Amino acid sequence: MTTPNFRPAAQIGTFYPPQRVLMGPGPSDTHPRVLSAMARPTLGHLDPVFTEMMEELKSLLRYTFQTSNLLTFPVSGPGSVGMEMCFVNLVNPGDKVIVCRNGVFGGRMIENVQRCGGTAVVVEDKWGAPVDPQKLEDALKQNPDTQVVAFVHAETSTGALSDARLLCEIAQRHDCLTIVDTVTSLGGSPVQVDEWKIDAIYSGSQKCLSCPPGLSPISFSERVAERVRNRKSKVQSWFMDLNLLLGYWGTSTRTYHHTAPTNALYGLHEALVMLYEEGLEHSWARHRRNHIAFKAGLETLGMGYLVEEAARLPQLNSVHVPAGIDEKEVRRRLLDDYSLEIGAGLGDLAGKIWRFGLMGYSSKVENVVLCLNALETVFSDMGRKVEPGSAEAAAHRAYASHPALQQSSPAKEEAIA
Ligand SMILES: *Cc1c(COP(=O)(O)O)cnc(C)c1O
Repeated sequence: MTTPNFRPAAQIGTFYPPQRVLMGPGPSDTHPRVLSAMARPTLGHLDPVFTEMMEELKSLLRYTFQTSNLLTFPVSGPGSVGMEMCFVNLVNPGDKVIVCRNGVFGGRMIENVQRCGGTAVVVEDKWGAPVDPQKLEDALKQNPDTQVVAFVHAETSTGALSDARLLCEIAQRHDCLTIVDTVTSLGGSPVQVDEWKIDAIYSGSQKCLSCPPGLSPISFSERVAERVRNRKSKVQSWFMDLNLLLGYWGTSTRTYHHTAPTNALYGLHEALVMLYEEGLEHSWARHRRNHIAFKAGLETLGMGYLVEEAARLPQLNSVHVPAGIDEKEVRRRLLDDYSLEIGAGLGDLAGKIWRFGLMGYSSKVENVVLCLNALETVFSDMGRKVEPGSAEAAAHRAYASHPALQQSSPAKEEAIA
């Protein structure tokens, strides 16, 4: 017998994670209802009781994506697997794909295209700016043989929201399919798959859906299904081949493909029930309202946004680190003294910005107030002049002038598909 030697054996035992407040770029806080759903007894992945729940889960996802696409289900794996699932099925060797890049995740899309044997034509925008529709239009004119257009709706690396409706409309006019990353937007900002005619879309469980990481909701249009059915070459990934996976998720006679993460799926089901109870419009409005209040507080503390107002994501606030402040030390103090996690900048923005997430269950008044007060104290300790209580007061004034949506939700009366 060998004993693991990473910690003295006497200290090894049950892991008790500390209770954090997660206000970074994801994961966000998991709702207690979701955690308790996940703690229920494990079922077999072919148990009729479980497969009934899977059908409900698919309906709830159709509601969340606002689509009637039959091919709507959660992929077993984080958002990156959903991303890869879209590319491996849609991109054939030799295909030309336009990828719009305005941050980290657009860069990963390029990598995916290349690994599928496709050619990526890159439409570049500045980090912090939304995707420029004119640039996409120009690239499509210059590359009439393009088959697919891919872009990130909500760039989590910068906090910029692009106009998905317009970008999809342009792609369609040029007879291209679209792949849209909505990992950070789904549940927090409007996403309308059918109305915007999105062909392939993926998201993640851990951003605005109040769930732990590990599942990736996806939805494919009939045009995608047809393209995958008519592929000449096999999908290079066995696990992500849509044709094989549908034997489990697609039909009523379920056959074994892989062992679905049953307890994780209970959690997503519960999270989506909660979103349905709240109503999508109400969730979007809640994210916006908490953002407005948080922004008022941050501005009082002398912090400005990276992204211009019209393209700002309410659920991901990227702000410049004030001059003379040690940004790493602030994050350390927030974590050590307040058990509060926020995000740092990536790439060229490392050391220059912070990323404050107000996603899913983390998007609430208590978190806005906690974070503003914590920042105020930490800044004050670092020798910056701040008026005690001023950030929280600004947030409360903003709440007062932006009342919450009325409680009765029209979404609740809509039957789910
Ligand atoms: C978080 C994120 C991903 C990746 O999701 P993982 O669950 O970390 O694999 C992809 N795209 C965007 C925009 C994201 O924010």
